[in-house]
Amino acid sequence: MPHYDYRCSSCQHLFEVYQNMSDDLMKVCPECDKPHLKRLISGGGGILFRGNGFYQTDYVMKPPPEGESSSNS
Ligand SMILES: [Zn+2]
Repeated sequence: MPHYDYRCSSCQHLFEVYQNMSDDLMKVCPECDKPHLKRLISGGGGILFRGNGFYQTDYVMKPPPEGESSSNS
């Protein structure tokens, strides 16, 4: 039977509960009796972050050619 971690967002009470996946989620905190429990997803998988979408754009800013030189005469 898997166990789940719950944390109360009201009093920060943290505890584990053994229950089936088909069981209803707990909502009411046993400590403060407020329905602020949140189940924490933990263990197992692990999150893979792959950042391969990094592109470097080559922007070559060419200065405009200075062909318009005024002649002094
Ligand atoms: Zn609580």
